[in-house]
Parts: sequence; C-alpha cells; structure tokens
Amino acid sequence: MEPPERPARGAPAPWDDPAATPLVVFDAVTKRYGAETAVAELSLAIHEREFFALLGPSGCGKSTLMRMLAGFETPSEGRVLLAGQDLAGVPPHLRPVNMLFQSYALFPHMSVEKNVAFGLAMEGRPRDEIGARVGEVLRMVKLDGFAGRKPHQLSGGQRQRVALARALVKRPKVLLLDEPLGALDRKLREETQFELMALQERLGLTFIIVTHDQDEAMTMATRIAVMDKGRIAQVGTPPVVYEAPASRYVAGFIGEINLVEGRVAAVEGRRVTVATAAGDLAVAEAAESVAVGEAVAVAWRPEKTRIVRAGEAISNGRAVMSGTVHDVGYLGGRTTYHVEASGLRLKAAVANASRSVERPLAAGDKVKLAVTPDALILLVR
Ligand code: ADP
Ligand code: MG
Repeated sequence: MEPPERPARGAPAPWDDPAATPLVVFDAVTKRYGAETAVAELSLAIHEREFFALLGPSGCGKSTLMRMLAGFETPSEGRVLLAGQDLAGVPPHLRPVNMLFQSYALFPHMSVEKNVAFGLAMEGRPRDEIGARVGEVLRMVKLDGFAGRKPHQLSGGQRQRVALARALVKRPKVLLLDEPLGALDRKLREETQFELMALQERLGLTFIIVTHDQDEAMTMATRIAVMDKGRIAQVGTPPVVYEAPASRYVAGFIGEINLVEGRVAAVEGRRVTVATAAGDLAVAEAAESVAVGEAVAVAWRPEKTRIVRAGEAISNGRAVMSGTVHDVGYLGGRTTYHVEASGLRLKAAVANASRSVERPLAAGDKVKLAVTPDALILLVR
C-alpha cells in the first residue's frame, strides 16, 4: 500500500474528510490537580503526518495534554486514543510516542553517541543494530562528526539536535516537542524550525509541538489549536486562525489586531453593520448570525488598514476613521503607526516597499484610517 500523502500546508486536508481516521484522539479529556482543572473536557483529533501545534499562554494546559498522550499523566476523565486504541493503562515505554523536553535532559557524562543509544540499549537491542540506528539518526540531524563529544562541548543548537536524535532513534509514530526551541537564539531558532519541518516531511512522522510563540506555530504547523485555560478556543490552519479568528481571545492572541466593541445596527444577509465609537463599521461577510442590538466586536488587522494624511482622498466603500498619530515604530521592513481616533488606540502597519519616503508621517499628524468591509471581522464570542 502507498503511504498516505503528507497534508502539505494549504493542500486538501484529512481533517476536512469525514471518512479519514485520525491518528491521535483526545475524547472529552479532563485533568484535575486537586481543586485545579488543568485540562477541561477537551476533544481534539490529530491526523497522521500532521505537524500540529498547541499554542497558548503559559499555564493553559499544553504540557499536561502532551503528558497524557505520552503516558506520564492519567486523565481524570475521558479517553486518549492512538490509531483507534484506548491508551488507558498502556505505560509510556509501550506507547509509539516519544517526547522531546524543553530542558533536553541529556546525560552530561555520556557522549553524544551514548546519549542517543541509551534508549535502545535499555531495550536490550543487539549492539550492531544500535550502532547502525544511532549512526543513521546522527546523520539525519547532521551530527555525525560529533558522536564522541559530551553535551558541554556542544552549542545550544547541537544539544537540541542530540535530544531530537535520541527521540527519533526509537522510531516513534508520534513525536511530541514541548517548547523544543525555547533555549535557542532567534536566528538559530528560525533555522531549526525549517530543519524540523524538512525532517518531519522526510520521515513522514506526526509531530505535535507545544509552543507559546505564535510565529513559531504559524511557520511550522499544518494546523494550530489555540488553547485557553484548559480548553481549545479554535483549531484551524494558520491562515484560518489568523484571517478568521473565532473569538476575541483568538483574534488578540494571534498577531496584532484592532478590536472595537459595539452593537449590531443593521443586518442584511451576511452584511452586518455595527455601531462603534469609531463610527458605523459594515462587515461584508459575518461568519455568524447576529440580531440587531446584540453586543459584538469588530476586528481588523493593522496591515489591512490604509493610513493617509487628513487632507487626502480615500476611495469610496471603505470605513474611514479620523485621528492623530500617537507614535511611529520604524521596523525596517515595515512601519507601524499608533493612531488616536475617537478615544480608541488603533494600529496601521505599512510595508516599506520603497527606500525613499518623502515626508514620513510623524507623531501629532492628523490622519485618516481606512478599511475595506471585507477586511472587517465580526466577533460574537
Ligand atoms: P502549559 O504547558 O500550558 O504552560 P501546564 O500543562 O504545565 O501548562 O499546566 C497547566 C496547569 O496545571 C497550571 O496551572 C499548572 O500549575 C497545573 N499543573 C501542571 N502540572 C501539575 C502538577 N503536577 N500538579 C499540580 N498542578 C499542576
Ligand atoms: Mg508547558
């Protein structure tokens, strides 16, 4: 039988296919520690060959969820299934799941080779099999010249790859990565992200990564589950959670956003007009049905906001807000403007596509912000 196609980012996806069987299923899982609920009636399905990201602030239950899949914690209620099998009572070492910890937890006195071989030696594998598998996996993570070194003779990035090799050598079906890049500097982090993506694709494995870094999740993941206090706020591909957030929480957690509270003033089909402090905002395509008078929010991304001087003309059909530039952040590739408008602080981000700017906007300048109706997002929750 042909192995299944990897769900390439953007391609047709098994999670949209009701006939597809997920590899990992959390079925109404709750985990309590005394009076505290770390994970609350959470259901989630992850498919084979996904690079799945659990994203949320510290303490929202991400690690607890992974530890229940790896077998280090037992759910208080609900079931965890792998390939249709209930994992209750299956000890960690008998689960086809391996976990890569944030701390790497390498043995400091052992060489790279011994660190990677350790798990196989514990299983009592024959010496030549261990040698072959360790050699193979060290080549995979580009550490074949480093087999004899001790962890303290390696850089942070190399130590991270030893930990990865040690997890991969066991040939897990699912690799869990709990904040695996936290100790790396920005540049190395980005390189490692792409290495991990390439490796996951090449090996055809299922990766589940835990992170509190939205850029990391957006870059790497086939899908993201955004978590909030032990629950899932939204599951979707990176473009879906960014462009169509399901709630105020998700909208605010992923990327920068303008969010204005208001009341529904008119509904015409999917077009919903909301009265706000920034004036009437007409959302072209509301994702949810609402009634006149309902309290809702309207959100839009800074990069979808046009900013011009107060005197300049704006084409029709856009929501226009007048205000004053409060501050300007020049970031090289783009500039962000914070604008005071009707008592609100709104953001506009402009890509610096050309090198010369004749007379840049500055703090105190009177401006207009304009947004097209299709850039506006209606939020009910
Ligand atoms: P995250 O990984 O998202 O930062 P965790 O899953 O580690 O969050 O923790 C979720 C919540 O459960 C936190 O409030 C944490 O304090 C609590 N918690 C986690 N592990 C334990 C434990 N072994 N005993 C008691 N409380 C715990
Ligand atoms: Mg954690």
